[in-house]
Amino acid sequence: MSELPGDGIVPRLERIADYLTYWSERQPDALFDESEGRLRTYRQAEADVDTCASALHAAGVTRGDKVAVLSTPRAEFLTLFLALSRIGAAYVGLNPAHTRDELLHIASDSGPVLLFGQKEHRGRDYTSDLAALHREVPSIRESHPLPAGDFLTGAGGTVPSPGDPREDALVVYTSGTTGRPKGVAISHRAFAEGCRLQAARLYHPGSVTLANLPVSHVGGVMDVVSVPLAMGGAIRFMDDFDPAAIPGVIEESKITLWGQIPLMFQYVLMTPQYADADLSSLKHIGWGGAPMPRETLSALRATGARLTSVYGLTESCVAVAYNDETADDESLTTTVGRPDTRLELRLAGEDGEPVPPGTPGEIQVRNACLMTGYLGLPEETAAAFTEDGFLRTGDLAVARPDGALTLIGRLKEMYKSGGYNVYPREIELVLERHPSVSAAAVVSVPDEVYTEVGVAFVVGTATAEELDAHCREHLASYKVPKRIELLPGLPLLPAGKADKAALREAALKCSAAPST
Ligand code: AMP
Repeated sequence: MSELPGDGIVPRLERIADYLTYWSERQPDALFDESEGRLRTYRQAEADVDTCASALHAAGVTRGDKVAVLSTPRAEFLTLFLALSRIGAAYVGLNPAHTRDELLHIASDSGPVLLFGQKEHRGRDYTSDLAALHREVPSIRESHPLPAGDFLTGAGGTVPSPGDPREDALVVYTSGTTGRPKGVAISHRAFAEGCRLQAARLYHPGSVTLANLPVSHVGGVMDVVSVPLAMGGAIRFMDDFDPAAIPGVIEESKITLWGQIPLMFQYVLMTPQYADADLSSLKHIGWGGAPMPRETLSALRATGARLTSVYGLTESCVAVAYNDETADDESLTTTVGRPDTRLELRLAGEDGEPVPPGTPGEIQVRNACLMTGYLGLPEETAAAFTEDGFLRTGDLAVARPDGALTLIGRLKEMYKSGGYNVYPREIELVLERHPSVSAAAVVSVPDEVYTEVGVAFVVGTATAEELDAHCREHLASYKVPKRIELLPGLPLLPAGKADKAALREAALKCSAAPST
């Protein structure tokens, strides 16, 4: 690979908090972050992280412990995340969009020793959710509100060395084919190396990145926060996804790096504020997680910024393929770009052997940034890797002659709705818990806005409205099926499993009918 902009500038360090120390020694007065009108320099952020690490240590948090944090994108989250990195503990992000059931599952599964949480967001009061987590998850010793002013007064003693960088830095929950979300454990070293690799590619002096993705997912913790930190740039938090406010923030904070999932761009482009804003500060516009529609791409091109897409998955941590600024519209809309030559990627057939050129194969990747495994699930972890240590992505792709990869399907049943992964089994389990449901099968159909949406087929006596309300109570809204169809029985395959191909066809046929 030819030289990248950040080669020789972005160092290789063992953990993400080391980047804060590295840059605060070199540029103490540079802007580190801006959150809700408050600006911090690198020097101030280093002091805040020191205090927070010391308070965590005083509260008995030691290396290897997990700490759960329910937060929107904001400075308090980042201070905690970096302080945990500094003491060698692991961060577990709880998504404010999740229902109490989902939060309880993640907290019980990851076993955090402390819990931090925002009191309110978008009109939802989290006080009783946080109390329920504290009460029902035995590992949680203490629960603290965010901002954690009182907790920080406990800071005092020196923090011991963080220990082995192969220990967990964060656990990110991603839905599983077998039902409930699984915790993807990523080590300090893997995470820091992933940030270095991406920062070297995207480096530009004086970068200012908009950070408005959920801080419970890799995109929100890594791509728009930790990667900018690794390049010594500034982070501009936005606590909520407010499409109409984004153009003004880009203009006011002179954002240079704007990364979203494609659907978010679509929403922003539709606002009148977008047409009026001065977006000339933008140098890079990036996206990942879902395909980019052509019209959205054309509108983004008009900004004059470099357009790049990344392909990766929670389990890979790092982006393993990308379209760079030289990619044309065809490549940007129909491929996920070429493999990063610093990392190993192969397309493998069912026998695990690399497929001949032009033939579909599963994308398999091997590098130093991959997940350590699924928390507490040795069998599923083993199944995720090949014998020679490649991660099975479950994505089927064909390589074009120029090496760019076109995604053509998935081995896993997962589908993508608005950039989020949705696993039908998780929704089926929720539907089957309803007392008047005897069977449920969920399939996905293409959708112009969300890429894909779920359609549920249910056998039972409940009405579609009751089932919709039941789903809304137990599932984050992006997982709630767009349509719920009641059937006297599910079509079955000879082995007795629901015939999902037949159901998908039925779902496609009825998708013209009015929504439930
Ligand atoms: P997640 O674990 O949420 O990051 O989702 C990973 C999945 O998103 C991958 O396995 C792909 O199926 C899909 N994906 C990731 N990047 C892209 C992209 N640039 N274009 C289309 N689909 C993508």
